[in-house]
Amino acid sequence: MEVIVAKHAGVCFGVKRAIDMAFRAARKYRDHVYTIGPLIHNPQVVEQLKEVGVTVQGGIDDIAGGTVIFRSHGVPFRLAQRAREKGLRIVDATCPFVKRAQKFARSLSRKGYLVILVGDESHPEVKGLKSYVEGEAIVVGTPKELGHWAGGKKVGVVAQTTQSLENFREIVALCLEKAGEIRAYNTICDATALRQKEALDLAHKVDCMIVIGGHNSANTKRLAEICRRILGDTYHVERVEELKPPWFRRKGRIGVVGGASTPSWVIEEITEGIHRTVSQG
Ligand code: SF4
Repeated sequence: MEVIVAKHAGVCFGVKRAIDMAFRAARKYRDHVYTIGPLIHNPQVVEQLKEVGVTVQGGIDDIAGGTVIFRSHGVPFRLAQRAREKGLRIVDATCPFVKRAQKFARSLSRKGYLVILVGDESHPEVKGLKSYVEGEAIVVGTPKELGHWAGGKKVGVVAQTTQSLENFREIVALCLEKAGEIRAYNTICDATALRQKEALDLAHKVDCMIVIGGHNSANTKRLAEICRRILGDTYHVERVEELKPPWFRRKGRIGVVGGASTPSWVIEEITEGIHRTVSQG
């Protein structure tokens, strides 16, 4: 049996930058360093940060003083404003790709476009993007959700950075049919696009795909969806204990990809786990 690990599996530039900034903040400011929600969708890293003093809080009003770290997928505009009003020290780890999407969402709305955000409405990045729109915004997850939309005169489309290109393309095509004027920005980040392409290529070549990353990580879930469309034997795992011997029976080649928030040591651990599981099964 052969295990093939995608070249760009694991932590992306934006997540690495956020982790580094958080560890630096912990060293520099020591106590009272907080994130609102986990810094990244990876429980192991969140645990390591906790050990050096970075504490997860539920909301901005739970933080009385000290340092707040904004996560890589950004925060809503009002939250940033509130943090400043409270006099908190801000370490802004918002990924530059997310900032770019926020900037487009704002400028489109200022120019009178109805903004369509392609993404998952409940995801913090999308909540943040929406908060930058000065006017009306519609969040759409799939082309089907646009089915009953009557259309508009001027429509601007922006994607959540972890969207699949195919989904974005289909929604833009639908907007073209229903809008008088359309302006679309492909704000899917390079890291996501690269990981999705590699995952797709790999899924065509193997008998089973293991997608590694937090179960609540949007980009990892998206990777698993993309692979599953090609290969039914696709499994999304977060920890090595989740691997099951029947997945690998009579399989010649196993593909491994990791989400943008999955550290390389987690990928190595699970890849070793695959070898172990195969030899035991
Ligand atoms: S997935 Fe893309 S947008 Fe998100 S943190 Fe990584 S590089 Fe930035």
